[in-house]
Amino acid sequence: MPVTKKKTKKWSTQDAIDFYGVDRWGAGYFSVDKNGDIVISPSGKKEGPHVSLPKVVKCMLDRGMDMPVLLRIENILGSQIKTLHETFAKAIKELDYKGSYKGVFPIKVNQQEQVVEAIAQFGSKFDHGLEAGSKPELIAAISILENRNACLICNGYKDEEFIDLGLYATKMGLQCFFVIEIPDELELILERAAKIGVQPNIGIRIKLAAKAEGKWAESGGDSSVFGLNMSQIIYIIDRLKEENKLDCLKLLHYHIGSQISNIRDIRVGVMEACRIYDELIQEGAAMGYLDLGGGLAVDYDGSRTNEPSSRNYSLEEYCFDIVETITTVLDKSSTPHPTIITESGRAIVAYYSVLLFNVLDVSSYVPQPIPKQLPKTSNDLLENLLSTYKMVSPKDVQECYNDTLFYRDQARQLFKHGQISIRERAIAEDLFRHILLKIAKTAAKLQHVPREIQEINDILSDVYYGNFSVFQSLPDVWAINQLFPVVPIHRLDEAPSRPAIIADITCDCDGKIDMFPNGEGAKGTIMLHDLKEQEEYYLGVFLVGAYQETLGDLHNLFGDTNVVSININDDSSYEFVRELEGDSVADILSYVEYDVKAMKQRIKKFAEDSIHKGFIKVKDRKVILHMFDEGLRGYSYFEKE
Ligand SMILES: *Cc1c(COP(=O)(O)O)cnc(C)c1O
Repeated sequence: MPVTKKKTKKWSTQDAIDFYGVDRWGAGYFSVDKNGDIVISPSGKKEGPHVSLPKVVKCMLDRGMDMPVLLRIENILGSQIKTLHETFAKAIKELDYKGSYKGVFPIKVNQQEQVVEAIAQFGSKFDHGLEAGSKPELIAAISILENRNACLICNGYKDEEFIDLGLYATKMGLQCFFVIEIPDELELILERAAKIGVQPNIGIRIKLAAKAEGKWAESGGDSSVFGLNMSQIIYIIDRLKEENKLDCLKLLHYHIGSQISNIRDIRVGVMEACRIYDELIQEGAAMGYLDLGGGLAVDYDGSRTNEPSSRNYSLEEYCFDIVETITTVLDKSSTPHPTIITESGRAIVAYYSVLLFNVLDVSSYVPQPIPKQLPKTSNDLLENLLSTYKMVSPKDVQECYNDTLFYRDQARQLFKHGQISIRERAIAEDLFRHILLKIAKTAAKLQHVPREIQEINDILSDVYYGNFSVFQSLPDVWAINQLFPVVPIHRLDEAPSRPAIIADITCDCDGKIDMFPNGEGAKGTIMLHDLKEQEEYYLGVFLVGAYQETLGDLHNLFGDTNVVSININDDSSYEFVRELEGDSVADILSYVEYDVKAMKQRIKKFAEDSIHKGFIKVKDRKVILHMFDEGLRGYSYFEKE
């Protein structure tokens, strides 16, 4: 589809904001100042306190924290929790809803102790609770949650030990709910509760017919592995009736997937769940809580569409739609309004972490100048390419592009069959590159640029090597093609001039970022700045607080990055509140069962043997052992001396 190109004018920082979509995905937390630096405003408002991100980076480096760093801005977490509660409160007030709202944070979205602790701390005044999906998560939750008005939701498969832990948490006054995922869990809960002498709070997870489109579609619908179907729900009700324990059944839960990008899917889910909730009340269950699970999406690409990396609704719309739908369904039967619970994970934590890394090198294909005299060959391939080059003009960019692709392919064929030499092929490839560059330059002046010509940048792109590992720090880029906004954190007052993809330092061909948000959908390259001599170039990958940290792995033995948390004060000063040193090489090797002491012994022995056999001198042994030691102690990423 042809697009309209703007006339070239002087680049401003506003152009950078538009170009990288900072206002579209940044939710007010990120912007660009007049120096061309990214600024962080933890209140989500420009007038509020703010700090320059490159300045924070400088302070970190001065303190000896090496790149890559995962930077957490703690007050953004606070702001996200506050906004969620305030927006639900607004919907509840305006729609005259009689129940209240309680949020819980699903620990699996970011299990790091610092994160869960910060959530409990910031969430305390809103009675924000926790959701645990496994025994370790429940143990973590009980150790952190002190607020007896907050909910503690237990999902996932439960054994006796899990249940006992939850029952004692109940006994200590925590609002702990056991959500039944499979019918058999009920008997164990009833049995253990009787033994321990406590009334359990029981919930059921239901399987909705409703499905959400997107990457987690299979979490909902008939084929989902989680939740009870209708006849299993009836079984639970009947068993509780027999035991005279229907007063323990208090909560209905469902979760139809993460990152639900279409608000209509959310509405359909709530509607179906409300009907079941209503039926449970009619059956005599106590109820009182409706838990809608997660799914509140993050607009990673800033397009505000129902694309997988976006959402076609605002937080306000989400809250109002939920409250309104519940009211509409339940008011028909005059059923009392329940306490609404949501288990938003992604939306709470995504914004508050930024991955920062320096660019180590750039590899670009700069063709040799066009030769004055083309070599004599048995065919006119090179002449054809040269005349295509000369022909490029605004009115026939597409035609020239078609021709040059044809000749390039022909060159490769002829080479394969031994009809041209490697030198001739090199000239052909260089000419091809010259033609593309000329087409791109010519097309930049056009009003309408044909689709294929817009994509020339993908072929012309440079490779920027970033000091990080996709597998460790951005696993969803690799696993599910998740889009994250990537932006240089400085120099945004200069127009970026190089189309690029970003490769990491693992030597894996999947270790790269080659999909970037582009207003609507994705594009294959990002525009970056030329590297300057003697000056580091820093990139930030934003909105990485959800799921990325623990899903990351040790591919190529790159370990956890350094983590730094800051808290920004009202007067725009800030403090480093927590620091976590990343893994050393010795740490990582021990994760994969190497015995570091034994390794040192072996290298000593081998060095000794090498002296003995005359390969090295005694003083070489000292250097080698020192290097080996330093290497083990060091950071797994590229370090500056
Ligand atoms: C993963 C999960 C969540 C979190 O979903 P988000 O979309 O990240 O908010 C909530 N509840 C359950 C049961 C989950 O499995």
